[in-house]
Amino acid sequence: MRRRAGLPGQLLNHDALKEQYGIDRAAAILSPGSAQADPLLLCWWLLTIAANRKARIIDADAIHFHDEGERVVVETTGPHVVEAKHVVLATGYAMPHFIMPRQHEIRSSFALATVPQAPERLWRDGALIWEAAEPYSYMRLTADNRIVIGGEDEDISDPQERDAMLGEKTQMLRQTLARLIPGADPTVSHAWCGAFGETSDGLPLIGRVPGARHVYAAYGYGGNGITFSYMASRMIAALMKGEEKAWFDNFALDRPDFSES
Ligand SMILES: Cc1cc2nc3c(=O)[nH]c(=O)nc-3n(C[C@H](O)[C@H](O)[C@H](O)COP(=O)(O)OP(=O)(O)OC[C@H]3O[C@@H](n4cnc5c(N)ncnc54)[C@H](O)[C@@H]3O)c2cc1C
Repeated sequence: MRRRAGLPGQLLNHDALKEQYGIDRAAAILSPGSAQADPLLLCWWLLTIAANRKARIIDADAIHFHDEGERVVVETTGPHVVEAKHVVLATGYAMPHFIMPRQHEIRSSFALATVPQAPERLWRDGALIWEAAEPYSYMRLTADNRIVIGGEDEDISDPQERDAMLGEKTQMLRQTLARLIPGADPTVSHAWCGAFGETSDGLPLIGRVPGARHVYAAYGYGGNGITFSYMASRMIAALMKGEEKAWFDNFALDRPDFSES
């Protein structure tokens, strides 16, 4: 199916996977072109680039939006009131209530980081690993050779309920790590959990906010923030220029929710 869709990748059978990566699973797909970034550093640099290009950055929460025809007025918790020709809402899982579409759900996700590993305990090339199982798990390495493993999602959004599950979930992730990479030191140095939002159809919510002419939204990326945020930047810039494409409808905030039928 991947080949038919034009996606490159190499199928590793059980023996090749065991021999090359030390992972004892039925098979795997080795894909080229993946990347990882430190999200905090990435955000700081993007903000620095924007500031160097004369963007003004205001450190405050936006609390009210008023669509006044040719301009949008944004009230903040600080002394600033921002007037703009276009406003893009991109507040992550904290969506303003007036755009929260039905197909968006908040779940919970869990992760841990081990102590730094000796290089010989790790798998080849620092590959980014995704196990497409139920529950799924993912693994990657930090710059100081810690293994980060995450997954074990739950259909809960209450932060206290989520925090209460952290101990049990950390043990489950440790067991998954021991099964996948038996040579690794499973000693945990950090464990955490947080909200994870996704849509019922797996597609993001990108486009105009229904009923507001100059307000746009970019939400619902699920685990695909890198891909969907890039798409959002292209789509919303095009919409602001008045360039509409038929396929934008697939991502519209008011698209039908087929999960209910
Ligand atoms: C556990 C986990 C693992 C993930 N793994 C991956 C991965 O491997 N690859 C990948 O591509 N994606 C991954 N994602 C998804 C990715 O992190 C998100 O899609 C991405 O961070 C969303 O970016 P954003 O800018 O839309 O929102 P956010 O990163 O949530 O940023 C929104 C910002 O808006 C601020 N904000 C909120 N309300 C207001 C307000 N009223 N006024 C002003 N500011 C406000 C928030 O404080 C926040 O700083 C993962 C997500 C989770 C939770």
